[in-house]
Amino acid sequence: MPDRPLPHPTALSAPFWQALADDRFVLLKCEDCGHFVHPPRHLCGRCHGSSLHWQPVARTGTLYSYTVVHRAPSPAFAAEVPYAVGLADVDGTDTRVMSNVLGDPAAVTVGMPVEVVTERRTDEIGLFFLRPGSGAAR
Ligand SMILES: [Zn+2]
Repeated sequence: MPDRPLPHPTALSAPFWQALADDRFVLLKCEDCGHFVHPPRHLCGRCHGSSLHWQPVARTGTLYSYTVVHRAPSPAFAAEVPYAVGLADVDGTDTRVMSNVLGDPAAVTVGMPVEVVTERRTDEIGLFFLRPGSGAAR
């Protein structure tokens, strides 16, 4: 089975992947209006400001939506189907992140609490996943 593909960091996104490799969770935040910018971009999507910095954020959130993947997008994922991919609101931010939801896809529900867990893949690249959480941050 081929290795699962890894992200290709750019100069802009490299700090995001590096933080995950170091078991940290950071998002870009606009210093002018406070909006969180994800996926990383050079300009704020709300005020078009360019003063963005990496901000540590909560690892808890709420599942906004999800889908269940039954057909693997590549042979590297064939052993994993079916699995859920979810979009989660991150506590304390105004943005959402998307990743695989760990565990039984039949147990996934909109509105469930989730926690961000990291997985170091190289010295520069980590991945993150959404694990069903306790909801303690609610
Ligand atoms: Zn802004």
